[in-house]
Amino acid sequence: MRAVTIQMPWAWAVAYNLKNPENRGRPDPWRSAQDAMLGIHAGKTWDYEALFDLRMQRALDVAFPNPDPMDRVHTWQQHLRDVVVPQLHELDGKLLSARRLIDVHGYRSLCTCDDWAEPGQFHLVFEPAVEFFEPTPCRGYQGLWTVPFDVAEIPRIALAGAR
Ligand SMILES: [Zn+2]
Repeated sequence: MRAVTIQMPWAWAVAYNLKNPENRGRPDPWRSAQDAMLGIHAGKTWDYEALFDLRMQRALDVAFPNPDPMDRVHTWQQHLRDVVVPQLHELDGKLLSARRLIDVHGYRSLCTCDDWAEPGQFHLVFEPAVEFFEPTPCRGYQGLWTVPFDVAEIPRIALAGAR
């Protein structure tokens, strides 16, 4: 199985079916993996600014509900710092799930992607993941890479009702 390494916390959102598509500056090498299952690997590099992205905040709010919704600002910031980010850091440098890449298209195609799609980028559209890996440390690479055999054999946890 081949894989794609994505910066955190974006990788978390892609791996757990909260984000589609993934945006890339170029169509290759992704086009060569069309219709393949791709491992979703969390890089060790973080994009902390993503925590302030409204789409990401929506996804985080679903996965890690604000313990005090009446206090939107202070509680959320504290919750983010004390609970959410430490939990997400547990995933750094690990293989998380696999999703089938079903389309790669350019922004000029007037696509029907949702608001995760960035204008001016190529959109990697995935089917929902139906299997999660037990998050397993694994070296990541730029571009398309192949998951080592011993890592590809790690236990998988079926996601019920994902289809
Ligand atoms: Zn699109």
